[in-house]
Amino acid sequence: MPGTVVVADSLPHTALSELEGYALRHCDGRDPRALREALADAEAVLIRSGTRIDAAALAAAPRLRIVARAGVGLDNVDVAAATRAGVVVANAPRSNVISVAELAVGLIIASVRRVLPANRSLRDGRWERSRYQGRELAGTTVGIIGLGHVGTLVAERLAPFGVRLLAHDPYVDTEAAHRLGARAVALDTLLSESDTVTVHVPKTPATIGLLGDRELRLMKPSAHLVNTSRGGIVDETALTAALTQGRLAGAALDVFALEPAVGNALLGLDSVVATPHIGASTHEAQERAGREAVTAVRCALEG
Ligand code: NAD
Repeated sequence: MPGTVVVADSLPHTALSELEGYALRHCDGRDPRALREALADAEAVLIRSGTRIDAAALAAAPRLRIVARAGVGLDNVDVAAATRAGVVVANAPRSNVISVAELAVGLIIASVRRVLPANRSLRDGRWERSRYQGRELAGTTVGIIGLGHVGTLVAERLAPFGVRLLAHDPYVDTEAAHRLGARAVALDTLLSESDTVTVHVPKTPATIGLLGDRELRLMKPSAHLVNTSRGGIVDETALTAALTQGRLAGAALDVFALEPAVGNALLGLDSVVATPHIGASTHEAQERAGREAVTAVRCALEG
């Protein structure tokens, strides 16, 4: 029996069109009072990252059955309070993995071919072809740390480049790595043998600082490090030291310990390519997240 669905953040029309028959109530979820009013008789609420569903919002929503987040992170939802209230919390965990994997591959090439400093030099009126001589990926070794959804897609996308793939993931069996054409190795082996290292682990107490001073010292001085996972997994102080002391050739970063990373010292280094956490920022990922959230609403309300 269709009911009222609150749309508290902006969602793609293509996704919302799949809620035909439901009463859609749009509100500005960033305004807690407007949100509580909108939720008063609602069965479902669709959010992105702008709306906070806390205990007060849940208390104002006695008929609510599902909070659906069109995206991955659930830091803006009090999941414990929702669970206590019998409200399902759903997200769209796989909606952006292709986008992140594609950015990782792009950043690997940008770092190895020194696209950013070459671009800057040309814009400054110089034509320095020999200065920006880079290296081919073919024949080099790429180490993937974390062989989950994104890491697997990165492995699949890199294989046709003719690279030798190493993988480190203590929770994935060796066979799974083999099937992707990668050799499963210990972290230290991966770091010392790779020409490029790309990081795809979740941020947990165990992975914060996973790549610190000791680990970066294991890497080749000619190597590049790419992080599109989460800030803090690579120790930024240790990374800055490795780059400025010539112990590492380059780094490409989409994520930072502190975001927004405006003013981060790493941004001043010529050997760093940086993007403002845009791994998931594609049209396709946003559409997919919207559709997955809408599907979750329909499953919860239609059974
Ligand atoms: P996932 O859970 O599918 O895979 C993570 C993998 O890391 C798992 O296979 C797990 O076994 C492995 N792992 C855990 N601890 C490890 C350790 N100590 N050493 C090696 N491997 C370890 O996650 P995913 O969907 O592939 O996402 C990977 C990362 O990308 C996450 O940090 C996620 O937050 C990040 N991400 C970034 C963006 C962005 O905008 N840049 C967007 C989405 C996801």
